[in-house]
Amino acid sequence: MEKKKEMYEGKAKKVFETEDPEVLIVSYKDDATAFNGLKKGSISGKGVINNRMSNMLMAKLDKEGVPTHFIEELNDRETAVKRVKILPLEVIIRNISAGSFSKRYGVEEGIVFEEPTIEFSYKNDDLGDPLLNAYHAVALKLATWEEIDLVKKYAFKVNDFLKAIWKECGVTLVDFKIEFGKTSDGEIVLADEISPDTCRLWDSKTHEKLDKDRFRRDMGGVEEAYEEVMRRLSEKA
Ligand code: UDP
Repeated sequence: MEKKKEMYEGKAKKVFETEDPEVLIVSYKDDATAFNGLKKGSISGKGVINNRMSNMLMAKLDKEGVPTHFIEELNDRETAVKRVKILPLEVIIRNISAGSFSKRYGVEEGIVFEEPTIEFSYKNDDLGDPLLNAYHAVALKLATWEEIDLVKKYAFKVNDFLKAIWKECGVTLVDFKIEFGKTSDGEIVLADEISPDTCRLWDSKTHEKLDKDRFRRDMGGVEEAYEEVMRRLSEKA
């Protein structure tokens, strides 16, 4: 599998075409951004960790009945994935209050919900990824009701799976963002990545933050946190 033309460069990854029109190669960078690209920086070794972690988790999710775009890890930073059309929806599941939820509703971080919540935002950088509900998404033709029902079902399944695996690692899954795509056969699959860039992960005992919030909030120890969660996951998985 070889990289041909660069198709797209995002904030944290580059995407390349291959000789197979149905297969793309993603290449994970160390670049980090936050606050809709306002804050820029780099987290050394992040690309390697996110590549490996996302692939490990997606390979397991595939076996759990959540189809994903993952095909094969090619090297430290590069992975072959199915070409999909990304649904322009960020799907966010929360188990504990934090981040924009706390800000929006004026509540402290750390409230443990009895049931997970789900929300969508419209993937649109110019608009700052505004929150929307399923009716809005259908009205804007971002997805059909059938697709939204499937995405919801998969997202809660991903939550159950990730919560359990992180718990074994002594890590609490606070919230996460996932994205879905549609293959050329019309199948909805989990795409993008699952990593400390896209999940809030707290040490279960100390509640220490082990994710991108350390970068967003200039807390230091960013690289160490990514390495720590990767180490714990590798030992358990
Ligand atoms: N998230 C993400 N990309 C985004 C926005 C959020 O990966 O563009 C993740 C974030 O890391 C967290 C979860 O989604 O795990 C919920 O984020 P929130 O809505 O609280 O937004 P934030 O506080 O990160 O702006």
